[in-house]
Amino acid sequence: MARDYYEVLGVERNASADDIRKAYRKLAREHHPDVNPHRHQEAEALFKEIGTAYGVLSDDDKRARYDRFGEQGVNGGQGPDMGGGVNIGDLFDVFFGGGGAAGGRGREDVRRGSDLRADLTLTLEECWAGVTKELRVPTLVTCTTCGGSGAAPGTKPETCTGCNGTGRLREVRNTFFGQFVQEAPCARCGGTGRVNPSPCTTCRGDGRVRGERKVSVAIPPGVDEGNRVRVTGAGEDGQFGSPTGDLYVFISVAESQSFQRRDFDVLHVISLSFVQAALGDTVQVPTLEQSDGGPVKVDVTVPAGTQNGALFRVPAKGFPDRNGRRGDQICVARIVVPKKLDDRQKELLREFASLSDEHVEEQPRGFFDKLKDAFGID
Ligand code: ZN
Repeated sequence: MARDYYEVLGVERNASADDIRKAYRKLAREHHPDVNPHRHQEAEALFKEIGTAYGVLSDDDKRARYDRFGEQGVNGGQGPDMGGGVNIGDLFDVFFGGGGAAGGRGREDVRRGSDLRADLTLTLEECWAGVTKELRVPTLVTCTTCGGSGAAPGTKPETCTGCNGTGRLREVRNTFFGQFVQEAPCARCGGTGRVNPSPCTTCRGDGRVRGERKVSVAIPPGVDEGNRVRVTGAGEDGQFGSPTGDLYVFISVAESQSFQRRDFDVLHVISLSFVQAALGDTVQVPTLEQSDGGPVKVDVTVPAGTQNGALFRVPAKGFPDRNGRRGDQICVARIVVPKKLDDRQKELLREFASLSDEHVEEQPRGFFDKLKDAFGID
C-alpha cells in the first residue's frame, strides 16, 4: 500500500500550498537519482513517490479529492498525469525554475471547479412521482473575505512580469540529440499569470476555502437505479472567477416490499383466497401513487375461476418514459390456500368435493410462460 502523501512530503494535513512546494523541492533535490549514484535504485523509487505525492497535493482539486476519498479518489483515471510519478512540469520547475521565489508547479489546467458526485437513495414511490431533495455537499467555495481574488482586501493581484500574464515560458535547450523547445509553466507565478503580493489570510491566496454547498435537486419522475442527474453549477467553485463545476447525483433505488419495477411497468402481487378466486371479487390494490401519506388504491375485478399466476393489468400506473407516457401496473394473482380449517369448514369442503366430479389439471399449459413473461425471466 502506498504511504500517505502528506507523510511522504513530511507536511501536516493542513499545510499551505507554499509549505508543500517547499517540502517537495527540498526532497526532490535530496533524492534525485542523479545525485545519489551510490543508492540509485532506492533514490529513484523515493523520487517517484515524492513526485506522485506532490502531483496530487499541489493541485487543489486533486488534493480535495485525496482528502475525501484517499488514493482512490485521485487514481481513478482522472488524467494522464495522475499517479504516474513526476511530470515534465515538475522536473522543469526543480531544475530550471530555480530561484525559489514565487515558483510552483504549473497550473496549466483551466481553473474551472471540479465536478462533484453525490449519492442519493430514493424509494420506488419517489422515483414514480419525482421528488425534490436538499443535499449538503462538502466542496471548495469562493472565499468571502477576498471575494475569490486571493488578494487581501484593499489589494489586487498583479500581472506576472515573468510571463506577461500568459503563465507559460518557452525554453530552448541544446542537447546531444539536438535542440528542444520546451514549454513550461512560469515559475514566478506558478503558471497562473498573476502574482499576489499580499495574499488573503483566510484562503492563503487560493481564493477558495473548504465549505459546504446546499443544493436543491429536482429529480424528475421515472428515474431508475444507476441514473445520473446533473445539477449545472452546483459543483466546486472555480478559482479566481473561473466557472463552477457541476454536481452529478447518482440515483439508487431502495427495495420495496410490495412493488417491483420492470422497465416502465411495475409488478405487484395480489393475494386472493381460494373462495375469492373461485367465485370472483373486486379487490382494492395499492399503486405507487401517494396521497395523504398513503398509496392511492384502485379497484381490480377478479373474475370467477381466476387461477394462480393470472395477470391483471392496471393501465398507466407504471413509470413514465421520456415522453411522459406511463407503463402499466401488472398485478399477479397469488391464491392462498387456508392452512387451518375447523370441522364445519372441512365438512363443507368434502361435500363440495363430492359434488364436483372433475379432476384437477396437473399442470395447466402456459402457466410458466405467463410467469416468465411477468417477471422478465428468459
Ligand atoms: Zn480569500
